Amino acid sequence: MRSILRSTALRSATRASRALPTCYAARHYSIRTQAASASAQAPLDASKLQVTQTTKPKTFSKPEDLVFGREFTDHMLTIEWTESEGWLEPKIVPYQNLSLDPATCVFHYAFECFEGMKAYKDKEGSVRLFRPDKNMARLNKSSARIALPTFEPSAFTELISKFANLEKDSIPNQRGYSLYLRPTMIGTQKTLGVGPPGSALLYVIASPVGPYYPTGFKAVSLEATDYAVRAWPGGVGDKKLGANYAPCIVPQLEAASRGFQQNLWLFGEEQYVTEVGTMNMFAVIKDKATGQKELVTAPLDGTILEGVTRDSVLALARERLVPEGWKVSERKYTIKELADADKEGRLVEAFGAGTAAIVSPIRKISWKGEMINCGLKETEESGEIALRMKTWMENIQYGDEEHEWSYRTQA
Ligand SMILES: *Cc1c(COP(=O)(O)O)cnc(C)c1O
Repeated sequence: MRSILRSTALRSATRASRALPTCYAARHYSIRTQAASASAQAPLDASKLQVTQTTKPKTFSKPEDLVFGREFTDHMLTIEWTESEGWLEPKIVPYQNLSLDPATCVFHYAFECFEGMKAYKDKEGSVRLFRPDKNMARLNKSSARIALPTFEPSAFTELISKFANLEKDSIPNQRGYSLYLRPTMIGTQKTLGVGPPGSALLYVIASPVGPYYPTGFKAVSLEATDYAVRAWPGGVGDKKLGANYAPCIVPQLEAASRGFQQNLWLFGEEQYVTEVGTMNMFAVIKDKATGQKELVTAPLDGTILEGVTRDSVLALARERLVPEGWKVSERKYTIKELADADKEGRLVEAFGAGTAAIVSPIRKISWKGEMINCGLKETEESGEIALRMKTWMENIQYGDEEHEWSYRTQA
């Protein structure tokens, strides 16, 4: 690979004159589009893919020994973008280090966004993605928010499909195993000037992963966190920007020092429940008057990451639980509401939802010296809905149930 740095290092033209207004995704799209039409930027073109295969294939740990995100496949997909040319030809090259000038803007101002998605092997040995259109749309929203370029979603899905197929042999074909894909976009312009990057790199690396809970569910304990805030209205907590994650580690260590695996992020004086660690949060509460069960999660008000798993859990619940008499709600709810429901025996279960684990059952939440028990008996590791959701989702992801969410890739 001709180093992205060597070519982009040349592109250090000053862009101080193009200070951006306060930018939101929609407006941003048009800013970039105007730039595109002015300079005839090339769109992302999957048909131009060039593949250079490795001459030194790796061997991986046994599937049962895989640790999340530690081992990577033999290749990476890379696509450079420059302001004058647009998207250059996509390349699959042997997995390798990047070489970046120390002044590259990603290192100073965090021009970085990413996605997390998985490729699954079905019974016929075909490689499937799960709702890739959702990841493409979300990555475009994240990148637009930090003045990085956007791309044609179907072209990138096609490239990811080709990449996943090239790495097919590294996908263990047991249930629960998959190839974790990490699409990443960084600003690569060499400048300490604070402005829109004139060059970028979009790349994808892949890591074979095993089930999040290899020996079955293990319910987690949370610490309700109000002294640190993960996301706020008008902020960027609803985008998958790398800059959102590093600040959450110290609160996580704080929680861990008191014996809790994750933070339950609260927001505002009302102490609204937002997310759990890097997962969306769901609770099952029984109505005080009617006893009707309600599956509740926070609404997408700008403080909540638009999880693909969250959206899928909601859709499956509306399709399959509502006919059983359930209520499904996207609404604000407070930690006090969970505490009261627990006291009155109405908190049935709670779980986090995200691509890595699908669902992660919650045993208890520590809040202001009080312990909220989330409906599990001591001998139980999961509630009924978390378990049913996991089964429903896996059936679709592994192609055991034909569903429009499962995307069969082409080599
Ligand atoms: C990625 C992420 C999620 C889960 O999103 P999925 O698309 O379901 O994997 C939830 N919350 C945060 C903060 C995240 O970064």
